[in-house]
Amino acid sequence: MSFEEYRRRRRFTVTPEPPGKVEPTRPPGGNRFVIQKHDATHIHYDLRLEMGGVLKSWACPKGLATPHYRKKLAVQVEDHPLAYIDFEGEIPEGEYGAGKVAIWDRGTYEIFEDPAAALEKGALTVLLEGGKVSGEFTLVHMKGKGRNWLVLLNKIERLNPELRREGRAAAMPARVRPMRAELAPAPFDSPEHLFEIKFDGIRAVSYLAADGSLSIMSRNQNEQSFRYPEFANFGKMFLAGEIVVDGEIVVLDEQGVSRFQLLQGRMGLTGAAEIARAREALPARYYIFDILYLDGRDLTGLPLSLRKEILMQVFMPHKYLGLSEWIQGDGKAFFGAARELGLEGVMAKSKSGPYRQKRSRDWQKIKAVREQEFVIGGYTEPQGGRPYFGALLVGFYRGRDLFYAGHVGTGFSDETLKRLYGLMEPLEQRQAPFSVAPRPNQPAHWIRPRLVAQVKFTEWTREGLLRQPVFLGLRDDIRPSQVVREEERGRLAG
Ligand code: MN
Repeated sequence: MSFEEYRRRRRFTVTPEPPGKVEPTRPPGGNRFVIQKHDATHIHYDLRLEMGGVLKSWACPKGLATPHYRKKLAVQVEDHPLAYIDFEGEIPEGEYGAGKVAIWDRGTYEIFEDPAAALEKGALTVLLEGGKVSGEFTLVHMKGKGRNWLVLLNKIERLNPELRREGRAAAMPARVRPMRAELAPAPFDSPEHLFEIKFDGIRAVSYLAADGSLSIMSRNQNEQSFRYPEFANFGKMFLAGEIVVDGEIVVLDEQGVSRFQLLQGRMGLTGAAEIARAREALPARYYIFDILYLDGRDLTGLPLSLRKEILMQVFMPHKYLGLSEWIQGDGKAFFGAARELGLEGVMAKSKSGPYRQKRSRDWQKIKAVREQEFVIGGYTEPQGGRPYFGALLVGFYRGRDLFYAGHVGTGFSDETLKRLYGLMEPLEQRQAPFSVAPRPNQPAHWIRPRLVAQVKFTEWTREGLLRQPVFLGLRDDIRPSQVVREEERGRLAG
């Protein structure tokens, strides 16, 4: 498609994109390429090759071809001006291609035939040498399909050659225990730390095997992939054959903030039909923040900053698969912004720290909202017109003793009241599970300590009880025995 088309579709008084002009091919080679991530109506990646004084352009809805998906659609779009090779910015709402454009990779390419003739016959093989991509691809026009082409990956062994040498040779691990953070009392600035959003969802480590099979495991090693069909395209977005990555599955509210309460609508579902229905209303997203294994190399011993670099090299973020963004150093300002947005808090991670399969001071969480998990040890009888139960009686472990932490009487919908009651009733026992049984105002029923609730609250009282606790949801990814008071965790761990 012609360059005139490029100019016809845009209002250069409004869009920040360059008007440009057809230029003579630029010495020495005139063989630059760029891949731009474009968050338009549909997220896609635009591949552009400098050729004949313009950028020949293809929009790739699922990104570049990858080892697991060696053939992807590439829709040819209008020629772009050479100046576009440096373009990054926000195309305003209402304009053609509205949305954010960011350079994902750039470099030079080689072609071993006459470019014009190759374009004409609808098949060109190029060797891309970029910062991330280093491989041979073929673009093939699908005859009779208008502007539709395919991008094919020919050679994978050339992908990211230097990165392949990082880490140590190892087989892909069958199971990883996710690294955990300690609670930090207050936000801080530190040049030795990266700061990230603390997501309010469930932790998940994913394993993409060489045969393309994908496993997504929760903290207590339960398979989650069937629950989130959104992530079925996972393997399409990695320039790698075998990977293990760590991240968090969330559901976002209208402000784009992850909310554990919303994820409740997706947790625990098992039937394909109910999952498909729930997915419509509550689409899940998976934010990836670490990479532990890549194509025969164990990366857990590398410093975090290098693991982040490698992750960015092999990952093409897409609609449901995000990259958890981070900033360096300025933790206090970042925390302030997070609190302003109503986020749960931020994470501070040591740049030089390895990935440890346990709780470590290398990772710290700084909370803007007080929220943690508690064990349900009983419930009170309802008052007034309320059905099922009045409040949950919750606690935490200190050693083998379950300490009472308070009663949680708000945060329930009619549906959760019913569901919780259905889960609690069969667990009923005569004896209180707490080391010191509370004496609530309403008659209490005690249950075996099997259920874990996520609860937010304003503070701990001097008596060690929760002030203004609100029920957020049940957790099926944490065992009751793991539930301790967060402030005590560091001390207990020594
Ligand atoms: Mn585009």
